[in-house]
Amino acid sequence: MQAERAVMARLRGARKRYGAVDALCGIDLELRGGELLALLGPNGAGKTTAIGLLLGLIRADAGTVELFGRDPQDIDARRRIGVMLQDAALPPTLKVGELLRLAASYYPAPRSVAEAADLAGISDLLARPYAKLSGGQQRRLQFAVALVGRPQLLFLDEPTVGMDIQARQKLWAAIRTLVAEGCGVVLTTHYLEEAEALADRVCVVAHGRIVSEGSVEALRARVARKRVWCETALPLAQVAAWPEVAEAVQDGERLCLATEFPELLVRRLLAEDLTLCALEVRAAGLAEAFTELTDAADAATRQREAA
Ligand code: ATP
Repeated sequence: MQAERAVMARLRGARKRYGAVDALCGIDLELRGGELLALLGPNGAGKTTAIGLLLGLIRADAGTVELFGRDPQDIDARRRIGVMLQDAALPPTLKVGELLRLAASYYPAPRSVAEAADLAGISDLLARPYAKLSGGQQRRLQFAVALVGRPQLLFLDEPTVGMDIQARQKLWAAIRTLVAEGCGVVLTTHYLEEAEALADRVCVVAHGRIVSEGSVEALRARVARKRVWCETALPLAQVAAWPEVAEAVQDGERLCLATEFPELLVRRLLAEDLTLCALEVRAAGLAEAFTELTDAADAATRQREAA
């Protein structure tokens, strides 16, 4: 499936250094149409730098950066993208409808103001000046501005910060609609459930390197630990001492056990407690997988620095 999707933007061996800081240490990344790529990573990992390169806001020290096969500063390439950055500032006195009309005027085949406003859930705010919008409403308008040009590739940098749950879900639905229409989306977020809900592909960045890339399922599967829940008469302390158990906590009625050997553990639990019930085995959630990967990347960086 992935091979059929056109590559819209690409980083190859992209490096960026700020003084003594290696913001990006030579990364390869491809963005494709009809696919949502979530870029995850702790603060300072290099996500914004990667997006800045693809948008032509900063230049790479080495490697290549392509947007629709061109230099990212090429005007025709730029007319095919929509952008919602973290620090977007729009003219405070212009009204929502005016801002959308202005943004649409830069593009060759934009959406109507009504359609963009509807997708972003701000149809009732068209006459309101930007400065009179709440923080969450401003974010929704910034999203509408990003999509009004009918972009083929949409860059969303932490789009749902400051949004309430309803607004966030409305935005998720709009993003899904755009992806289904063939738009490529690159999303940076610190909300792992957001990546889990939306992403076709997840790329984890740490210390300027890509430490993992693949589907949410593949990322989870990379992390060896599974979780085993059960209701048991066995005491927590006894189970916690078994070599198959990496971590044991009481979770309401059930024990929650982390293990790298789920089959061995389940066999032992069933053998030692004939009354055991409510058994459940689960792979790691994205949050656990992410923490484990970035911890491993921290350790690798410390090792490189010490060498
Ligand atoms: P966050 O999640 O906090 O937004 P990020 O993954 O987007 O982080 P970047 O903003 O790309 O991270 O920063 C990567 C590294 O480069 C950080 O160490 C940051 O301090 C550094 N850096 C970024 N921009 C500059 C700059 N203009 N001058 C100096 N250092 C910079």
